[in-house]
Amino acid sequence: MIQTWQVGSATVTRIEEQVGPNDAVASGFIPDIVRERFEKHLDWMVPAHYDPGRDRLITSCHSWLIRSGGRTILVDTCGGNHKERPWLPRFHMQDRPYLQRLAAAGVSPADIDTVLCTHLHADHVGWNTRLENGRWVPTFPNARYLYSRVEDERWNPEIGDRRAKHPDRARVYDDSLSPVIAAGQAVLIDMEHEIDTRLQVRPAPGHTPGQVLLVLREGRGGIFCGDAIHHPVQVYEPSWNNRADEQPEVARATRRSLLEGCADSGALLFPTHFAAPHVVAIERRAEGFAPKFVEAGK
Ligand SMILES: [Zn+2]
Repeated sequence: MIQTWQVGSATVTRIEEQVGPNDAVASGFIPDIVRERFEKHLDWMVPAHYDPGRDRLITSCHSWLIRSGGRTILVDTCGGNHKERPWLPRFHMQDRPYLQRLAAAGVSPADIDTVLCTHLHADHVGWNTRLENGRWVPTFPNARYLYSRVEDERWNPEIGDRRAKHPDRARVYDDSLSPVIAAGQAVLIDMEHEIDTRLQVRPAPGHTPGQVLLVLREGRGGIFCGDAIHHPVQVYEPSWNNRADEQPEVARATRRSLLEGCADSGALLFPTHFAAPHVVAIERRAEGFAPKFVEAGK
């Protein structure tokens, strides 16, 4: 099932890797949850966004395929196949038909001209590479892979004693970034960067210091915000951080300004981890914000 949203003359297609319950209970995934406020949202969260029997938030991991002005862009590349991630059970040694789903959307790996990794966590860089005869090679042979210089400085294992200190992070970098760099396809960008007049990269720090988002300036607009927000309940509660948000106050400020921007402009929000229908517009309410889910085809 191909899900595509029209944004001006651009199309945005969701390429799914996986949807399911988190490994942790809800307050493990979002430690700021205040239970009585959380439970006010059960009516719309169950069953697509929350499994009350197991107390698990349900999240997706998908890429956004944007076709705009002759470009074919992939935003974030999920966890990837065959990657050893024993510390991340949901992403460990996956074998999923991600490339078949890309093909079903009418795109071959060679068609992708630009990959943007909003940040370098394992679930955003995995399909940067694939295993070929025992070697990791770039999945998208004709693409420039963009990610922020600040983000690279955060994760590059060759800096200081990082490799010894953070072997898990080094493993992600080694199998998902280094082969792209070796192939000459990596492009380190500033956190403000123009891909062209319709596609602009902007800072979205907090989840990680170097996270960026992508603004699509067509029609009503679209914002591809990576992990600035993980779950739609955070639209109502922008101060609730995810467990992986490295800079708590910065993450809250980024999330709030993202929601304000969407509410003011009407732009659609395309996060990486929202479960179905995956895309929201943001409405302003007296008490803050509310998500308005937007089904594919709209
Ligand atoms: Zn993520």
